[in-house]
Amino acid sequence: MNHAHGQSTRAIHGADVADPHGAPHAPIYNTTTFAFPSTEALLDVVEGRRPGALYTRYGLNPTTFALEQTMAAVEGAEAALAFCSGMAAEAALFTAHGRDGIVCLGDAYGGTLELLGDQLPQLGIETTFLLAPDLDRLEAALRAGARLVFFETPANPTLEIIDIAAVAELAHRHDALVAVDSTFASPVNQRPLELGADVVVHSATKFLGGHSDVTAGFLLGGADLIAPTAPWRKNLGTAIAPEPAALLSRSLRTLTVRVRRQNATAQAVAEAMDADPRVARVLYPGLTGFPGHDLAARQMDGFGAILTIDVAGDAASATRVADRLDLFHLAPSLGGTESLATQPVTTTHHGLGAAERARRGISDTMIRLSIGLEDADDLIADLTRALDEVDPERKAPVGTRAG
Ligand code: PLP
Repeated sequence: MNHAHGQSTRAIHGADVADPHGAPHAPIYNTTTFAFPSTEALLDVVEGRRPGALYTRYGLNPTTFALEQTMAAVEGAEAALAFCSGMAAEAALFTAHGRDGIVCLGDAYGGTLELLGDQLPQLGIETTFLLAPDLDRLEAALRAGARLVFFETPANPTLEIIDIAAVAELAHRHDALVAVDSTFASPVNQRPLELGADVVVHSATKFLGGHSDVTAGFLLGGADLIAPTAPWRKNLGTAIAPEPAALLSRSLRTLTVRVRRQNATAQAVAEAMDADPRVARVLYPGLTGFPGHDLAARQMDGFGAILTIDVAGDAASATRVADRLDLFHLAPSLGGTESLATQPVTTTHHGLGAAERARRGISDTMIRLSIGLEDADDLIADLTRALDEVDPERKAPVGTRAG
């Protein structure tokens, strides 16, 4: 594969496929094990003298190899490992590289916060949680010995943007690794390795899969950092299975067109919501008034398809708006072809508790929107109608209303 090719080309031709029947894409090797002509040939693979298929749960399956090769090419990484979920990828990262202490910077997916805060301490893996701008306290935690800095950017659900290059520079001065969960951006909009991060994490369940029909995850980075996570994947049994791996390879081929269209639609929806008096605040990196806009414009190629609206009123008003949406499904995920809406307080951040949500600026009136591939006007009309039904007195000014 020629790495001088553009990202769309790499997403389609990123894997070496030498199929004897001429299939243009890697076939699904729906098999748990692979046979060898001799014990010598088997030992060559078992003892690492020759790369090759061996056992699917080890991740040593040609369908998995093709996926990992393509994804490494798309992200611009030396190595990639595919997992059965985003959380499985994170678990392998934290167990392989987090044992000297982790710093989690800023907001993160609720499941990540639970894993770091509740389960991993039971194994002696401790995490310091810091709000994002707190670089002085980050330095103190690094001086105290933490060796892995983990963060999401854009973050869930506030869309907060963290300066990847600045954190990497600080962390590297203290010999610490930087891992970025780049799920919200996808490699189309952001490539953290180019900005100095050491490892990239993706929940491939989101934009990479893109059709809400695959659960999967990735770790990407230098081969020396990805290799130590492989035994955790192998023995915790968290490698991806062949069928989801093939589905994901299929999805990667359309990643760039999907994400670019989703970026454009999200920008239109964000601008319409920003002009609506029933919405107190719109959190979207593409809006010039958003606090992280300038940084996002520097470190991202597109602003993404996730935005969070803060409905004017109370939690019940936000719930009424969410319940009246028609095209937007009420579901706690993102990145698919269909637009989704979720109130973080009822789903992704339900387990955090009110005090921690307040500390992180996650309000009860927030609705997170994942913009799909529908027509922008239809999505804006759906949101506007729901707002009209809940608060008919204060309609949006003429000219900002769709449909
Ligand atoms: N990272 C982010 C930013 C997420 O939003 C999610 C899930 O919502 C995860 C990680 C976990 O991914 P998965 O559900 O594939 O385990």
